[in-house]
Amino acid sequence: MRALVGVDVGATSISGGLVNAAGDVVAVERRATHARGKGTAVETLLEVVGAALAEARSRALTVDGIGVGLAGVVAVETGTMADYSRSHVREFANVPLAERITAATGLPAFVDNDANALALAERAFGVARGAASLALLAIGTEIGGAVMIGETLMRGRSGFGGELGHIPIDFMRGPRCICGGRGCAGAYLGGRVMAAAARRRAVRARSKLVAMANGDPRAITSELVFEAARLDDPLARGLVDRACEALAALLAVIVNGLDPEVVVVTGGVAASLEPLRGDIIQRAARYAYAMPLARTRIEVVSGDKARTVRGGAALVPYELRRRASDALRRVAYNSDTRRERSMPKYVIEREIPGIGAWPADKLRAAARRSVDVLHKLGPQIQWQESYVTGDRLYCVYIAPDETLIRQHAAEGGFPVTRLSRVAAEIDPTTAEPQAP
Ligand SMILES: [Zn+2]
Repeated sequence: MRALVGVDVGATSISGGLVNAAGDVVAVERRATHARGKGTAVETLLEVVGAALAEARSRALTVDGIGVGLAGVVAVETGTMADYSRSHVREFANVPLAERITAATGLPAFVDNDANALALAERAFGVARGAASLALLAIGTEIGGAVMIGETLMRGRSGFGGELGHIPIDFMRGPRCICGGRGCAGAYLGGRVMAAAARRRAVRARSKLVAMANGDPRAITSELVFEAARLDDPLARGLVDRACEALAALLAVIVNGLDPEVVVVTGGVAASLEPLRGDIIQRAARYAYAMPLARTRIEVVSGDKARTVRGGAALVPYELRRRASDALRRVAYNSDTRRERSMPKYVIEREIPGIGAWPADKLRAAARRSVDVLHKLGPQIQWQESYVTGDRLYCVYIAPDETLIRQHAAEGGFPVTRLSRVAAEIDPTTAEPQAP
């Protein structure tokens, strides 16, 4: 049986989950982020990954890779988080994390923004399975966001794609935001800003929150604010009211701007928002086009740590697929058409007994091995297409001469039964012969 390891990095804890192909979390390992002191979060993450892999071995599960969701802007190609803004996991900044994990485990490892990873998980395993389009808001300590069009994550040119929490909704009077802007939706919504506002004002406002936090305003959390609002505490009610209005405005921006099939609201604050769902959608109706708002499915999903590890897990097959198809595209399409036309074309016949009955994954593995060798040989040799029969494989290549084709065959272990240079092509729509 196969499995994936997904890691969710939080300010207080790092969770690593063993996730099966159906998206079920079969085991979770958790450590305090700074269990070994400040500056040791990377070591703790590697420890969590090691524990998840040990768990996989004890269950005889084969792990295909490790994915990590980080609260920050991540350069996915290098698996490194940028040193940007006041990330609460800043010590991961500029650490080549994917490389470190691969070096420690020998397995493929990928890192992305945590909200991006959650969107992949909801589309692969969750409430947005197979959705044609999807926007996700992860409302936790801070607010993250993600957008997917079909199977593709909109990471954007610089990795900021989907940062929906930093859409300004009150640019006249709004407070300064950590992004450098003013009046961002996230400035009213995140757990950190809600708790901070309550802490500042609780004593003077004679709020119930002081007693609820056992007399210590510093112990006020966003959960307590939502609870106090239900008990009709005016300060808490005002903060929750403002948060709901901000979320409503943000939903309107998403619906008017993207008209997605599904909006997923998740994160640590989601559980507190769930009972207010109807109220929030009613408020959104004051800002959004009615028809797309009515047709958009809005799902509030628990941000429970036992579930969020699915984000990193979903990142693994997404990146493996994306990188494989990128590599294939480079071989197939990076050619300069003029040079391509001037280069000879060859048909290679390979005798491979039984190849017609090979399962797809065996054919795919052979094709990827071929692509790897092609990459090594450079852009001079190009693979155009292949046909499989019962015991033969016919491949069409473009190359300056036979040498590179023979070299490719030797290095990849592919037989060459016959190698023929194409003398002419016939266009079936015009019956015109033309030079290849
Ligand atoms: Zn902002």
